[in-house]
Amino acid sequence: MSTALVWFRRDLRLDDNPALHAALKAGHRVVPVYIHAPAEERPWSPGAASGWWLHHSLAALNGDLVSRGSALAVRRGASIHELERLAASTGAEAVYWNRLYEPAAIERDTRVKAALRTRGLHVESHNGSLLIEPWQVETGQGDPYKVFTPFWKNARAKIDRPRPLAAPERLVAPPPVDSVSIDSLGLLPRIPWDAAFADHWRPGEAGARERLRDFIDQAVAGYRTERDVPAVDGTSRLSPHLHFGELSPGRVVERMLAHAECADGRAEGTEFYIRELGWREFAHHLLYHFPHTGDAPLNARFADFPWQQNPAALEAWQKGATGVPIVDAGMRQLWHAGWMHNRVRMIVASLLTKNLRIHWLEGARWFWDTLVDADLANNTQGWQWSAGSGADAAPYFRIFNPVAQGERFDPEGRYLSAWVPEVARVPLRWRHQPWAAPPGVLDESGLASDSVYRQPIVDLKESREAALAAYAAMRGST
Ligand code: FAD
Repeated sequence: MSTALVWFRRDLRLDDNPALHAALKAGHRVVPVYIHAPAEERPWSPGAASGWWLHHSLAALNGDLVSRGSALAVRRGASIHELERLAASTGAEAVYWNRLYEPAAIERDTRVKAALRTRGLHVESHNGSLLIEPWQVETGQGDPYKVFTPFWKNARAKIDRPRPLAAPERLVAPPPVDSVSIDSLGLLPRIPWDAAFADHWRPGEAGARERLRDFIDQAVAGYRTERDVPAVDGTSRLSPHLHFGELSPGRVVERMLAHAECADGRAEGTEFYIRELGWREFAHHLLYHFPHTGDAPLNARFADFPWQQNPAALEAWQKGATGVPIVDAGMRQLWHAGWMHNRVRMIVASLLTKNLRIHWLEGARWFWDTLVDADLANNTQGWQWSAGSGADAAPYFRIFNPVAQGERFDPEGRYLSAWVPEVARVPLRWRHQPWAAPPGVLDESGLASDSVYRQPIVDLKESREAALAAYAAMRGST
């Protein structure tokens, strides 16, 4: 029987895995491999929260393989060398993998493919993580899209009803190969700030499927209205599972469509949800076609924007101690759970890049290290959109008012009370802006006299005007 390596990267699943499926279909005995080579993803090597997830996800994948008669070979080192060594030691004739779209990964994979082919190996790559690949949609002029709505109109029309590939029931045992332990990769954070992650997440394919089932049963029908309410569990929280490929977007869509008609509101919620997946597709489209945007603005006008150096304010933002309750709530949720609600991500990003005028890359790097769903395409898109420098960006004059946002999307202050107990007893009327309440009211609510919620680190009105002036000056000078 011929042998093939299947190189797992961010497709840590057996279900709907086109590379694995192709290797099996070609009749090979499969050697499943994971190679730990974070330096190859520089400058965006995975952050600390991603390390936590990866550790547990690799363990889950190995468990799933073992239960089918196989096992994951885990290696550390340069991908090309490890693949060559494994091919030599197992007598493999072919290598299969699913594609990645980040610039560093594309560059590495192109080199690996060429080198393996030079050695006479058959190499195949597949689409295992997108509904539509970046080069499959283009404008009428043959250019990449920079605006979401026309992108999605075109892409949605091209996306057929997915037909996911079933996971293999049994696998032929691979030949014995040297493998290091997952523990030895040192993925778990050294400081135990991840203590609460396990309460919120179950990395791995089974956890992903469970989360999807719960979302379909409990939340998709209300998704259209509840997805913007951070106090409610109204979104799928599938982002880390999708990032690590524990679930394919095709499987998500297939499952959702299969249940769409079973309950009121599900069909509408499903179409809204597929549109959100469209933002993920769009983010990958952008990063693929504009690979510099992980580190530089898409809109070149922003190259000389006068960002402020303010380490103390940056640290207050990171720690959830700005004095703006909704912002601090989001930053504390992030630190605690490795995740933040999308609405609140937009609010905290606006405060950092517009009111504080701190470079969006500072925010992107903090998210990169602390989010369990840190994803270069999605994170870049989110930050550039918020800063005003990206595709489809919030216009420069649209600066979120965090108080108005809080009052609109957390009208009962439940999200605040959960994450910022300091203000939980401030009357609702002032809870989103305690500094505006009469001091006596604050004294009665138990807010300390030196609390940052009596005087936030930034004056929202003045900083808004200063940001508008800086943006106007930038426009005037270009
Ligand atoms: P749901 O509402 O259930 O959405 C379903 C899926 O659609 C998500 O899991 C995600 O894969 C995709 N999706 C939804 N919204 C977006 C979006 N705006 N852009 C791209 N994909 C989207 N998402 C990440 O996955 N990784 C990141 O690193 C990331 N960084 C962000 C940074 C900023 C500043 C902002 C504003 C947004 C960022 N997002 C990022 C997008 C979005 O906030 C998350 O995808 C979403 O909150 C994940 O929660 P969910 O799975 O419950 O979302």
